[in-house]
Amino acid sequence: MTGAERDARTFEEAVNALPLIDHHVHGAFRVSLNRVAFERSITESDRGLAAATTSFDSQLGFAILRWCAPMLELPPHSSPDEYLARRAELGPEETNRRLLGSSGVSHYLVDTGFATGDLLDLQGMAASSGGHAREIVRLESVAEEVAVGASADGFAKAFLDRLHGRLENGAVGTKSVVAYRHGFELDPARPEPGAVTRAASAWLAAIDAGQRVRLTDPTLLRFGLWSGIDAHLPLQIHVGFGDSDLHLARANPLLLTEFIRHSEPSGTPILLLHCYPYHREAGYLAHIYPNVSFDVGVAVNYVGTQSAQIVAESLEVGPFAKQLFSSDAWGPAELHYLGALLWRRAFSTVVGRWIRSGDWSLTSALRVASLIARENAERLYGL
Ligand SMILES: [Zn+2]
Repeated sequence: MTGAERDARTFEEAVNALPLIDHHVHGAFRVSLNRVAFERSITESDRGLAAATTSFDSQLGFAILRWCAPMLELPPHSSPDEYLARRAELGPEETNRRLLGSSGVSHYLVDTGFATGDLLDLQGMAASSGGHAREIVRLESVAEEVAVGASADGFAKAFLDRLHGRLENGAVGTKSVVAYRHGFELDPARPEPGAVTRAASAWLAAIDAGQRVRLTDPTLLRFGLWSGIDAHLPLQIHVGFGDSDLHLARANPLLLTEFIRHSEPSGTPILLLHCYPYHREAGYLAHIYPNVSFDVGVAVNYVGTQSAQIVAESLEVGPFAKQLFSSDAWGPAELHYLGALLWRRAFSTVVGRWIRSGDWSLTSALRVASLIARENAERLYGL
């Protein structure tokens, strides 16, 4: 074995043993899932499955049968029926314990703002995984919580009081889903207080008239974003790939360029989440603007064995000190487990190739692995 080959193998072992900080994730299901529910939670589509198709016929489905089956004491490449029968036999608690407990994640930074009814809460995630869990506060959810019962004049104060209460209670960052609610073609400037009150007045009147409580008003969305900037904690922004609530073209992070420029003097870190298929655009923004970092979570799961390609592309112009690990898992603990496993495999494959060719030293490779696996998150979130 050559020295470079030995280094590449040492590197692979080190990456497998690295404790990860999953900086954007949701809870795991604490309930049992029938086949339809499971299949619906391994696709980002919220439409019914097309006739005669199964979500298992996908990179993610194949990755579950390959990598999660052995965790349930089944052979790799078991059938979906065998897999789901064994999963049902073990039950949600044991399935979560095995999959979360084996992912090597020391900290989950959990977005608590979306469809949490059937999911483990922070304590549940910590207990099932044996790690730590901290909260990320979703700005639009805070607005929706205080909208019921607020007056137009009192909305801004009620929102800020609720937000700061959550942040003082141990949350480590904020998150915006403006991509889902409007898209990034927003006026980048901070809205005037009068404009916020007028927008709140119109929104609260619509809620009184029976409209569903869902924040889509661009002025109030901007107010939320700027409140995140003012909080001086990392502001996560959903970018790219997501369900059909999203118009993908309006979730291109380049549309955030003016907002990034406006918010730059604050020094508040902006974390572009997921980013696929705009991870190269995100890498560019992280390259140019000191306050921008990014991840390729969720894509790594959905592209399965192609994840080495996504990770390689993220390591083009994206600075190494401005990339973080995330799974963006929501629901089945398979997604939490695979997010970690596929990222480790992808990172080892890509960087291992550069060690073998002599382009990267083992020392530099180990340092970059540690930055992306946890040190960048420790620094940005103050963990
Ligand atoms: Zn997410």
